[in-house]
Amino acid sequence: MSDAETLAERVRAGDLRLHELGEYADHETAAAARRHLLEVETDAELDAVSDFTFDAERASDAHIENMIGGAQIPMGVAGPVQVTGGAADGEYYLPLATTEGALVASVNRGLSVIATANGADARVTKSGMTRAPVFSVSGIAEAEEVVSWVEENTDQLREAAESTTSHGELLAVDPYVVGDSVFLRFVYDTKDAMGMNMATIATREAAEVVEAQTPASLVAVSGNLCSDKKPAAINVVEGRGRSVTADVKIPRETVEERLHTTPEAIEEANTRKNLVGSAKAGSLGFNAHAANVVAAAFLATGQDAAQVVEGSNAITTIEAREDHLYASVSLASLEVGTVGGGTKLATQSEALDVLGLRGGGDPAGTNAEALAEVIAVGALAGELSLLAALASRHLSSAHEDLGR
Ligand code: NAP
Repeated sequence: MSDAETLAERVRAGDLRLHELGEYADHETAAAARRHLLEVETDAELDAVSDFTFDAERASDAHIENMIGGAQIPMGVAGPVQVTGGAADGEYYLPLATTEGALVASVNRGLSVIATANGADARVTKSGMTRAPVFSVSGIAEAEEVVSWVEENTDQLREAAESTTSHGELLAVDPYVVGDSVFLRFVYDTKDAMGMNMATIATREAAEVVEAQTPASLVAVSGNLCSDKKPAAINVVEGRGRSVTADVKIPRETVEERLHTTPEAIEEANTRKNLVGSAKAGSLGFNAHAANVVAAAFLATGQDAAQVVEGSNAITTIEAREDHLYASVSLASLEVGTVGGGTKLATQSEALDVLGLRGGGDPAGTNAEALAEVIAVGALAGELSLLAALASRHLSSAHEDLGR
């Protein structure tokens, strides 16, 4: 019997628990033991799951518990496209990991039209990762006392928060009061990190100062006003992570030749679908499928997949002008990093290499900013391609109807 089989048998006998296997063997063997156990106890065969390239020790230390192997997602590439941004500058290929057939082709079509129009502009207009602890107080009088103290002593909070990180900077502490609950929304410049761990650690330190100096008592380091991984209007309005916009002007002839439609038809599809339809639905996202590009780029480059929720907070605008079509997409809360989290894993860091954005930027923050700008251009390409497909179908069916 192999070591893995012996360990699996010990788990089956109740001698060991699944999560304890890493204490009795290296993580590669522990993962093999868990697979063996699952194969015996279920009808599954886990040959594909066993075939992974990341480092089992590092993954088990930082990324996964009870590891059994790796999940694989096909990765494709779209581009190249010229991006002129605040940090991004040059031609970029965008790696995309997805199981949705036609997505990469659609983004690629949009990017090639943008490339023909000499590329897109992109800018990060606001940047700040947030954590909002909730404190309890005795009532509104005490709540007001806490808020006043925070406003007068933000420097003390900054000193405490920044003592936990060599990169993070506290930008603001925004107070919100509901009855006897006080929420303090801490906003950080987290440079090249997406920053959720960094912001949480720093906020915990600052919250101790609030507790020591005011009557407030900390209930939870996250009071959901942050707001992480949930649909929330605060992220749409205030932004979270990077607020980023990409736009492009496409000559009228290019729209007609490459997208087989007109600027007016694309504008109408955008207005009726993305603006009127989204408004009627009470949606937070006024776009066609920005989340598709955000999700595929996140999976390829090691971002936190659950934050696609915030990544879908995007508005697409289209305007048919005399000689060109103006198109923009503004993502209010795109939470991306090029250091930390899943960016260190093997395939994910290779994908960041394709973009030339692995690791910390010089100066710090510029790699994550550039990544946000390139993803925004990818989202813009996806919007253009889908809207054009809808518009050309609408045009051709209108022509067919007229022809009858
Ligand atoms: P992290 O892996 O925890 O930390 C990244 C660290 O990299 C920073 O704290 C920083 O250290 C260091 N660093 C080195 N070069 C840097 C540079 N150029 N710019 C910025 N930092 C640099 O990553 P994180 O981005 O803070 O958090 C992401 C992780 O949090 C993901 O795994 C995500 O799944 C997870 N997450 C956590 C929570 C939570 O509540 N804790 C919630 C959602 C997601 P210094 O700080 O020492 O400077």
